[in-house]
Amino acid sequence: IKRVFSGIQPTGVPQLGNYLGSIKNWVDLQKDQSAGGDNPHELFYSVVDLHALTIPRDPKQLQKETFEMAAALIACGIDPNKSVLFRQSAVAAHSQLYWALGCITPVGWLNRMTQWKSKLQQQQQQQVESAESMVTESNFSRLNVHSNAAQGLLTGLFTYPVLMAADVLLYKATHVPVGEDQVQHLEFARDLVAHFNKQYKKKHFVLPTVMLTPSKRIMSLKDPLRKMSKSDPNEQARITLNDTDDQIARKIKKAPTDSISGITFDPGARPGVSNLLSIYAALRDTDPESAALAMQSLSNAQLKEAVAEAVISSLSPIREELRRLLGDQEHIERILGENEAKAQQVASANWKEIAKCIGISA
Ligand code: ATP
Ligand code: MG
Repeated sequence: IKRVFSGIQPTGVPQLGNYLGSIKNWVDLQKDQSAGGDNPHELFYSVVDLHALTIPRDPKQLQKETFEMAAALIACGIDPNKSVLFRQSAVAAHSQLYWALGCITPVGWLNRMTQWKSKLQQQQQQQVESAESMVTESNFSRLNVHSNAAQGLLTGLFTYPVLMAADVLLYKATHVPVGEDQVQHLEFARDLVAHFNKQYKKKHFVLPTVMLTPSKRIMSLKDPLRKMSKSDPNEQARITLNDTDDQIARKIKKAPTDSISGITFDPGARPGVSNLLSIYAALRDTDPESAALAMQSLSNAQLKEAVAEAVISSLSPIREELRRLLGDQEHIERILGENEAKAQQVASANWKEIAKCIGISA
């Protein structure tokens, strides 16, 4: 039996990398049916809105995007009868455990996190750029600039991995299906487990294991050396679950490749072509090497057509389902309400034990 936890931030519409690197794995875990038809695994999937607060957000927008992310996950195939699908902020114990863990986390461990280091760099860069273009920017960016300028770098962004460790440990998750960019954070969580157990002389927490898919790192369609992200300011860099067929085809057509003739899989020398092959392979249930071999004599343009076809045929049913679900908001609210009660039950039982361990009241 696996106890699974994973999360996704409500920072926009899920992009192809989220789907192939993470969500597809979540859905597949639902399929491991036992002979009796019951799912042998306990699956917890969360829209992690507390994590999304690390970047200043318009409150209405955050609430809307949190809701839409839940709908998107259902459209991707998350079945709320097989998985517990919930908003992170609905379960108070995430924040409570976050504090407890933060109090035993050495600052040096957080300083080493590569996501923190790159976000730091990015923010400093953005601050300069947006200060220059504030006049024409939207309310949201103005809020962003204002807040950064007034408060400097925010603590939440720095302690993000502590909250992520709390998410996973709160459910005593044995398996955590994420993309490659989250591997370091999971290692941090494992270190914290050992640290906590030593500190309190209790073997309370379970060591969580990372689950990766073969497409654990889908790259940007603008710069194949950077990962695809839903919050990338350039919309052309990603394919999202609500892109139209035309938009998908156009974005793939414009993706950078190279002038080497023939198709080969070589991420080091040919990052653009190799990224397209990885996408194709993940959607057609093959591996990138075999896909390259089968398409070796195609031109880059022909490869792109094949990739676009594969993406469109997988994503268009999801897009239609998402549109349908968004038309029935009450249905989604009801599902979330029911699932949040289940998550709360598991989390608060565990939090009670942890609080006792530490010597505080639960
Ligand atoms: P943001 O830019 O707001 O951080 P994101 O696209 O990185 O958005 P997250 O919500 O941070 O998405 O991550 C959700 C899940 O998707 C995580 O498991 C993460 O590892 C995975 N993931 C994100 N980007 C990719 C990618 N390019 N390839 C594979 N997996 C990815
Ligand atoms: Mg991310």
